[in-house]
Amino acid sequence: MSLTHMQIKELLDEGRRHECDGFGQDHICVRIAAIADLPSRFGQFHVVAFYNNRDGKEHAAFVHGDACFAENVPVRLHSECLTGDAIGSLRCDCRDQLEAALKALGEMETGILLYLRQEGRGIGFTNKIRAYGLQDHGYDTVDANLALGFRDDEREYSVAAHMLQSLKVKSIRLMTNNPRKINGLTALGVEVTDRLPLVIPPNPYNRFYLETKATKSGHLIDFSGKEHLPEQMDRPVVDGMSAEQAADIQEQ
Ligand SMILES: [Zn+2]
Ligand SMILES: [Zn+2]
Repeated sequence: MSLTHMQIKELLDEGRRHECDGFGQDHICVRIAAIADLPSRFGQFHVVAFYNNRDGKEHAAFVHGDACFAENVPVRLHSECLTGDAIGSLRCDCRDQLEAALKALGEMETGILLYLRQEGRGIGFTNKIRAYGLQDHGYDTVDANLALGFRDDEREYSVAAHMLQSLKVKSIRLMTNNPRKINGLTALGVEVTDRLPLVIPPNPYNRFYLETKATKSGHLIDFSGKEHLPEQMDRPVVDGMSAEQAADIQEQ
């Protein structure tokens, strides 16, 4: 079962008419602008394009199965990472996280991936590359993060909460290793009935997660000893970690 023509028509009609005061401090309002079939290597999805009233960014939802108008829908939030998602950069593990989430959702009866167009979680592509450049020249993560400015968690939750409401999702099971994300969404009126862990398979590129030191101090160390910027706020658990290592990730 996937979205029916009637459901798509209803979502589109409401998207056209939609007005509200917005979510969160920034009064973010998104509306559904277009919906289409999207068969993918991870299964059958519908892609939903969202307009938003703040920055012209077009957010996207990838909907698998009969997930709209439904309860207990598995949901994953993913912040755009051009270098990781599209190019396979090894400076972060965004693509591993994205693929693992899509694969898991595609195998479930229903599921939604919200793809939030907030590169570097809102600081923008150029600032992210600027921070990478600083790291290349020996700055540590703290300095590089200062160069990046603050990270906009609040906006991530506002956009996501509104998208779920627009999709008529009644309650969700949030796919995350970060319990704080649940509070962020709940505060905006999303009913979270459960948490699903995101576990990614081990590969040569994420073996640094398996080293305890990489998860201890809130940052990650790559093969050559350089620190990573934690681009997705939600650290993945790699299959094969000890229970203690997995617990460390949840505390960050
Ligand atoms: Zn709205
Ligand atoms: Zn990334």
